[in-house]
Amino acid sequence: MTDSCIFCKIVLKEAQATIVYQDEQVTAFRDAHPVAPTHILIVPNKHIESVSTLETEDEPLMGHLLTVARKLAEEQGIARGGYRLITNTGPNGGQTIFHLHVHLIGGQRMRYPMG
Ligand code: AMP
Ligand code: ZN
Repeated sequence: MTDSCIFCKIVLKEAQATIVYQDEQVTAFRDAHPVAPTHILIVPNKHIESVSTLETEDEPLMGHLLTVARKLAEEQGIARGGYRLITNTGPNGGQTIFHLHVHLIGGQRMRYPMG
């Protein structure tokens, strides 16, 4: 937990969010500014700044996070049509919240370019 981290606060339910899934390792909640009909953020419950600070010990956690993304895509009804998973990393990657998160975006045909 980092005191000033909004995603840590959402995990601890100290800040408001629409949580769609939570277990002992990860939390998923709706993005406050959705860019598509389905836009969910999936975060590790423990504070990890970004992919840049991942450690080898985090491999099972990140594998679990991706499996949760797959299950949520199925539950949200976007698995068949396809969806996009994005993890912005660092300022040049467009990261604005420095608690690692995977965007699960779907429900419409995604547009390019990506950068
Ligand atoms: P990124 O730019 O990849 O760091 O993405 C941060 C995302 O967090 C953006 O899509 C924001 O809309 C979203 N966001 C920021 N604050 C909140 C919040 N309090 N609850 C839900 N989503 C948020
Ligand atoms: Zn955090």
